Amino acid sequence: MKDLARIPVKELVRSDTIKSKFNDVLGKRAPQFISSIVNIVNSNQDLKNVDQTSVISSALVAASLDLPINQSFGYMYLVPYSGKAQPQMGYKGYIQLAQRSGQYKRLNAISVSKEKVPDKMVIFIPDYRMEEAETQIDMYQDHIEDVKAGRVEPTRCGKCDYCKSTAKLGKIVSMDDLID
Ligand SMILES: [Zn+2]
Repeated sequence: MKDLARIPVKELVRSDTIKSKFNDVLGKRAPQFISSIVNIVNSNQDLKNVDQTSVISSALVAASLDLPINQSFGYMYLVPYSGKAQPQMGYKGYIQLAQRSGQYKRLNAISVSKEKVPDKMVIFIPDYRMEEAETQIDMYQDHIEDVKAGRVEPTRCGKCDYCKSTAKLGKIVSMDDLID
């Protein structure tokens, strides 16, 4: 018998045993979910190299929590870690589960600043802010993917670490322009 761990996910998902596991959890939505597993592995070489059964079992965790697995949605990530895929919940996954439970009053984030001596603060995030942020992410998603893939040049802000580290010496700036 072939070692299951080495059979590519796209073949594993054709097996009746695995199909029925997803059918049990997701019913009619199983085929779509299964095709997104195959897509995720196709677009991530590291996931092709890990134990393929661990990809399936991580995906089953997401399925049983009824969280979408599309990696750009931020609900659940499949993370390759020492030869295996691990399910890792994104912040949207936590929010989704909290909302479904109906047990929460409101969601707070604890923010820690990235300074030498970090500052801490508990921040309440109103729903409309969350929705705004999600709309923004959706809006910029394609552009971000293009920049990551090198299809589009990033817009330079001139202030961040990336811009500073890749800055080229160009025009000469007068000291008068730097001091008000
Ligand atoms: Zn920048």
